[in-house]
Amino acid sequence: MNADLVVVGSGFYGLTVAQRCAEELGLEVLVVDRRSHIGGNAYSEFEPETGVEVHRYGAHLFHTSNERVWQHVNRFTSFTSYVHKVYSTYKGEVYPLPINLGTINQFFRAAHGPDAARALVAELAGEIETSEASNLEEKAISLIGRPLYEAFIKDYTAKQWQTDPRDLPAEVISRLPVRYTYDNRYFNDTHEGLPTKGYTAWLENLADHPKITVQLDTDFLDLSQPLNKRDVVGQVPVIYTGPVDEYFDNVEGALSWRTLDFEQEVLPTRDFQGCPVMNYAGDEVPYTRIHEFRHFHPEREAQHSQDKTVIMREFSRFAEKGDEPYYPVNTAEDRARLLAYRDLAKGETGTIFGGRLGTYKYLDMHMAIGAALSTFDNKLVPHFSKGEPLVSGGVDA
Ligand code: FAD
Ligand code: UDP
Repeated sequence: MNADLVVVGSGFYGLTVAQRCAEELGLEVLVVDRRSHIGGNAYSEFEPETGVEVHRYGAHLFHTSNERVWQHVNRFTSFTSYVHKVYSTYKGEVYPLPINLGTINQFFRAAHGPDAARALVAELAGEIETSEASNLEEKAISLIGRPLYEAFIKDYTAKQWQTDPRDLPAEVISRLPVRYTYDNRYFNDTHEGLPTKGYTAWLENLADHPKITVQLDTDFLDLSQPLNKRDVVGQVPVIYTGPVDEYFDNVEGALSWRTLDFEQEVLPTRDFQGCPVMNYAGDEVPYTRIHEFRHFHPEREAQHSQDKTVIMREFSRFAEKGDEPYYPVNTAEDRARLLAYRDLAKGETGTIFGGRLGTYKYLDMHMAIGAALSTFDNKLVPHFSKGEPLVSGGVDA
C-alpha cells in the first residue's frame, strides 16, 4: 500500500481531511468507502426522467456562520442564492414555518402586530415555566403555548421520533425558533445556498487531487478484504469516519440511531406542491414531509422536465441492524456507551475518530467541515510536520 494516510469514509469530514493533507502536506492519501459512490450522505444525483438533482440520503441545505468554513468551501464550489423556507400542512391548511407572525395570525384568525402576538403567546405559554420544563412537550408549551404546540409540534414530533414527546428530552425543541415578524427563513446563518453544480460535483472537486486515491466498495471493517483495519491500523495513520461502535465490534453495545425511509416518485405534473419542503403536522399521514427537489434550483428550470416532477416522501423510524444510521437517539444508555467508546478510542493510537458516525454527534455539513479543518490543524499538522504522536484524544468532533 503506497499511502501516508488512510481515510475511511468519503463524506465531507473524510474528504476535507484528505484534501488538506494532500495539498498542504503533500501526503499520499488513500480514501476508502464501503458505498459504491463518494460523498457520504451529502451525495446527490440527477434523476433521469426529470433532470432534477435528488439528494439520495435526504434534502441537504448548506448554511453556515463560520467564516473560515465559508471561505474554504467556496474554493470547491460556488453557491446559488437559494434561501430555505418550509411550510406545514395542518388540518387541510398550509402555514409558514418556523412559527412566525404569519403562522400565529393565520392560526388564530387574527391580525396581530408583534406586541399583541407576543402577549398572546406569553399568556398561552404561561402554564409552564421554561426553566422547569422537564421534557419536550413541557418545553414546547412553555415557549409557544398548548394550541400551537398541539397543532404543529406534537404529532409531527411523535411521527419523527416514534416516541411520546413527554418522553423526549427538552433540548430537541430548542432548535425551533419563533419569530414575531413575517420572516420565514428557516435558518439564521450569515451564509446560505446550494452548490451551483450539485453536491456530487462539489464532493468530486474535493477529491480531485493527484495525491488522493479513492477506493469504493471497500469496507474497512471487513477483514476478508485486502485493505482492512487489522492490516492497516498501526502501520499507517487512519482517519476513521464510520460508526465508532462498529469499529470496536460493538463491545460496549450498539449505539441507537434513527433512520429515514424515502419513497421517491416521478409525477406527471410540472409542479406538485409549489415549494421545496412541505411538512405534514398531523398523524393522518404516516410521513413527516415531502420534498420536491426542482424547487431547490429555480435557476435550472430550463434543464428540468416541464411535464414531470420528482418528489420524495420521508418516513422516520428507529434504525435496526443494516439500516442507515441518520440521527443519534442519544438516550442515557447511549451516552454511557459513548463514554466507554471514547476511552477505547483514546487507546487506539494512530487512529482518529471523526465525523458524524465516528463521534455519534448530529453534525451539519458546515460543522463536519469545520471539525475536519480543526483536526487537520491540531492533530495532523503537528504529527506529520513535527513528529508528534497521533493520538485521538478520544472521539474528535
Ligand atoms: P457521512 O457523510 O455519513 O460519511 C461517512 C462515510 O463513511 C459514508 O460514505 C460511509 O459509507 C463511510 N463508511 C462508514 N463505515 C465505513 C467502513 N466500515 N468502511 C468504509 N467506509 C465506511 N447537514 C446540513 O448542513 N444541512 C442539511 O440540510 C442536512 N440534512 C441532512 C439530512 C439527513 C437525512 C441527514 C442524515 C444528514 C443531514 N445533514 C445535513 C448532515 C450531513 O449529512 C453531514 O453533516 C455530513 O454528511 C457529515 O459528513 P461525514 O463525513 O461526517 O459523514
Ligand atoms: N418539528 C416539529 N414540527 C415541524 C418541524 C420540526 O415539531 O414542522 C420539531 C421536531 O421535533 C423535530 C425538531 O423540531 O425533531 C427539529 O426540526 P428540524 O426540521 O430542524 O429537523 P431535521 O430537519 O433535522 O429533521
